[in-house]
Amino acid sequence: MTHSSSPSKDQNQSLKPSNFLRQIIEHDLSAGTYATRRWGGTPGDADHHNRGATDTARVRLRFPPEPNGYLHIGHAKSICINFGLAKEYGGVCHMRFDDTNPEKEDAEYVDSILDAVQWLGFDWQFNNTNHLYQASDYFEYMYKAAVILIESGNAYVDEQSAQEIKDNRGDFSRPGTNSPFRSRSVQENLNRFQEMRDGKLSDASAVLRAKIDMAHPNINMRDPAIYRIRHATHHHTGDKWCIYPMYTFAHPIEDALEQITHSICTLEFEDQRPFYDWLLERLTQGKMLQSPPPRQYEFARLNLTYVLTSKRKLRQLIEEHYVTGWDDPRMPTIVGLRRRGYTPESLRLFAERIGVSKSDSWIDYSTLEIALRDDLDPKASRASVVLDPLRLSITNWDEIMGAGHLEPCKAPVHPHLPERGLRHFNLGSQVWIERADYQEVPAKGFFRLFPGNKVRLKYGYVIECTGAHKNASAEVVEVLARLIPDTKSGTPGSDSVKVKGVITWVGVQEAASIEVRLYDRLFTEAQPDAGGRDPITTLNPNSLKVITAYAEPSILTSAADERFQFERHGYFVADRVDHSSTNPVFNKITGLKDQWTS
Ligand code: ATP
Ligand code: MG
Repeated sequence: MTHSSSPSKDQNQSLKPSNFLRQIIEHDLSAGTYATRRWGGTPGDADHHNRGATDTARVRLRFPPEPNGYLHIGHAKSICINFGLAKEYGGVCHMRFDDTNPEKEDAEYVDSILDAVQWLGFDWQFNNTNHLYQASDYFEYMYKAAVILIESGNAYVDEQSAQEIKDNRGDFSRPGTNSPFRSRSVQENLNRFQEMRDGKLSDASAVLRAKIDMAHPNINMRDPAIYRIRHATHHHTGDKWCIYPMYTFAHPIEDALEQITHSICTLEFEDQRPFYDWLLERLTQGKMLQSPPPRQYEFARLNLTYVLTSKRKLRQLIEEHYVTGWDDPRMPTIVGLRRRGYTPESLRLFAERIGVSKSDSWIDYSTLEIALRDDLDPKASRASVVLDPLRLSITNWDEIMGAGHLEPCKAPVHPHLPERGLRHFNLGSQVWIERADYQEVPAKGFFRLFPGNKVRLKYGYVIECTGAHKNASAEVVEVLARLIPDTKSGTPGSDSVKVKGVITWVGVQEAASIEVRLYDRLFTEAQPDAGGRDPITTLNPNSLKVITAYAEPSILTSAADERFQFERHGYFVADRVDHSSTNPVFNKITGLKDQWTS
């Protein structure tokens, strides 16, 4: 039976560019590679699945993080690939915690990982079933698989020391040497392995190894260790086990028990693929696992300039207090990006744009920011905010408008979405303007405020600068200007006075004082850890600057996580942790223009 149509592949998706993963899946779907596989309702061995009906999930993929930290932008790529492809091709992506390593994992991370995947817009539901799994549930199957290998003469208990095993492995130019334990009988191996399980042997005194070929050109095939002894408490299985499967042994079995069709991972696992296939071939021959087995495909991991994508190195930034935590808005973690103001849509767009490839490369950080702007520009409400305030006084205000008069002004919430309505604010005799908008002696091409020049206060009137007051240290503390009557934006004849400059402002009488956190790149080098360099040495000392800014009053009602375009400054978000109407705090997400490429 073949699947020739693809019901869930909507029009948009068929417009997505092809890539090698899509081609592989499309090939398997049209060839019916996995069409006859059965699904037993839960993960399990061949007997279990054979009791089920033909699998209605056209593909099964998985996202298998180790619960040992918070996910980062690299994982976001992997999530978008795996969950995205599953959705696109009418299948499911299993959410699997790869918790086979007893020492490193912590339940604390599990919730944050689930939350990150859901926030990105994905789930692990299919046919009303939640496909949320943990590898430690499969320990019994893994043990059984090891026994099958021993029984078929494909595994042995090696009691050389760790050093001897290492020394006897050989290297690229030298074949390895067979262990003296390699020729043990099946029965002896079975007994010894049982003793390992029963806790009769101490840590590191023995390992179970696959029996392949000590002269294999791929060193991973020189009798890799598949089980080790570790008297450690596991966060799920407690003290039930004192032997734990090695990752390279566990992972293919996890995939097969879950009936994964395409097991997509990063390129560093390419050298492990021969063992993946070797193992599953033997376990399907041994009838423990259903055939055809899953296949592994590798894509290039994401490397992003100015960003670290190693959980270990990110943890160091926190432990040494260079950032405030996993969700510090400078962190490339999903919680950090979220707090910074990134949207799930922008991250999905980014993942789609960078695509998948078979060779490692660096993606320029600007690619991520461009995706962000492309997502935010059509959505974000606009607001007037003055980041570096300087007072401007309109000296003829009382005379023309009347003492104390406040002139109502309006501006669209979004310039291209009239249905979003208008923002209202007032112009009075005193406004805050940006310090950079005044120059006593104008530089060439400067069209904003300088004595004798006219500019428009955006959404308000045209004014003419008449001078400025300075303090004792010769700093400008107040700019002076005259209002030109009958020039209010949106009124007839308002453009009779031509100006070259338009400046943003906030009325002093109603300005809301807000905390703004201006973030910059965390590292000064595009490849912070290149060549083994300690990334700490390239930290940008100015990655965070906190300022007080003045905003139009409408901004006070914003909810946490609400995103704005502060006109002419860029995109900002109400901080999801610290913001409230009485303590407004905004994070700079990014500027309006690219500041990353030089
Ligand atoms: P780290 O090295 O930061 O600890 P990891 O690879 O050990 O990351 P896992 O939790 O094992 O993290 O990874 C879960 C999945 O995410 C894996 O399939 C892995 O290949 C993928 N992944 C991790 N980092 C990246 C990256 N930079 N780009 C793409 N995919 C990644
Ligand atoms: Mg890992």
